[in-house]
Amino acid sequence: MRFFVLAALAASFVSATAQSGWSRYRVYVDTDEQAQRVADCGLGLFSEQVSLGATDVIVGPNQLPELWALRLDHKFISELPDADAWRDVVRPQIDDYRYFYLDYANMIAQYELWRTANPSLVSRQQIATSWGNRAVWAYRISNQKTSSSQVANIVIIGGIHAREWISPSTCMYFADNLIDRIKNDPAYANLMRRVAVYIVPSLNPDGYVYTWTNDRYWRKNRRNNGNGTRGVDLNRNYATGWGGAGSSGNTSSETYRGPSAMSEPENQGLRNLVQSLPNVAGFIDYHSYSQLIMWPWGYQSALCPDDAVHRFIGGRMRSAIFDYSGMVYEDGPINTTIYPASGTTVDWFYSPMGAISLTVELRDTGQYGFLLPENQILPTQQENWQAFQSFLFDVAVRRTSGVRK
Ligand SMILES: [Zn+2]
Repeated sequence: MRFFVLAALAASFVSATAQSGWSRYRVYVDTDEQAQRVADCGLGLFSEQVSLGATDVIVGPNQLPELWALRLDHKFISELPDADAWRDVVRPQIDDYRYFYLDYANMIAQYELWRTANPSLVSRQQIATSWGNRAVWAYRISNQKTSSSQVANIVIIGGIHAREWISPSTCMYFADNLIDRIKNDPAYANLMRRVAVYIVPSLNPDGYVYTWTNDRYWRKNRRNNGNGTRGVDLNRNYATGWGGAGSSGNTSSETYRGPSAMSEPENQGLRNLVQSLPNVAGFIDYHSYSQLIMWPWGYQSALCPDDAVHRFIGGRMRSAIFDYSGMVYEDGPINTTIYPASGTTVDWFYSPMGAISLTVELRDTGQYGFLLPENQILPTQQENWQAFQSFLFDVAVRRTSGVRK
């Protein structure tokens, strides 16, 4: 259903008078040109990405003129929680990551507790220094001290988009449980002699910190673009298909692709890590929200040559979640399942790197969106641990049995 301009203006007026801070609006997008206009604007996206049909945007204080300047039909959906309210929940000690979101310092502190308690299983390396001079870490969890071509390497990244807090949170659950299983489950002790899991707790620490200190809805990194705007969308900056549909050349856009492919130090660090590994078998990039399990391509609508394998592995992950919690996660290639997206991690890890490559959108389906309540942290972690174990065994068996080179 479309709203006529008058109705939309009336709705805007009513909400403007009621608006105390942040609001969610639905914008109706009919054409690619209109989609690009939304992508290029400075409004935050409540939806993960601009798509034809309805796209929800975040309108902050004093941003209504930007919404009007789009000249697209739109309607007010709801007030959003005060974007400053999360400051109340910042706590001084390391809380239990299964029940609370952790800030960056406490997140890394927790990983360090795991590493120092398990020095034979966990090691770490700094893969990059962010624009804001923060270390970007990768933690390696394995029952095999050194990687070789006999060890299948699996790479997991959290937090490439800053505001998607459930992503790094879920990765912590994987780290904790992998360590526990290696020590207590002979099947895992054996498997993890042939597998190393690299977990990047947060690929975008500057952005993550910024969501705790300044803007809960921040998505990009914190590059100074030199024109008063900040940030590159790290998940539009990869070399495969860089510059194409579903990204923007406008520096103020939430999907700004950066000045050139792989321009960002955070991404260069991940690239250097991956290129140093002899055998990159699998990759998952965790996002929120929408409950999706997706694979290449993002940048083009054609099916990737290994679509059947991805569909098999992704389908088993979907079933693992449904069997465990009854939650529905849809699956399919990115481009045709949700939207075109170019310059993504998932396309680059598939080609040229040759990994089974997925991107997972965690809970929920839109009720809370990026602000997933803390009482849904553990259920999200648990159901995705089921899916991750399925992925781990499928990819390890596939790679070590020599099916895919
Ligand atoms: Zn995301």
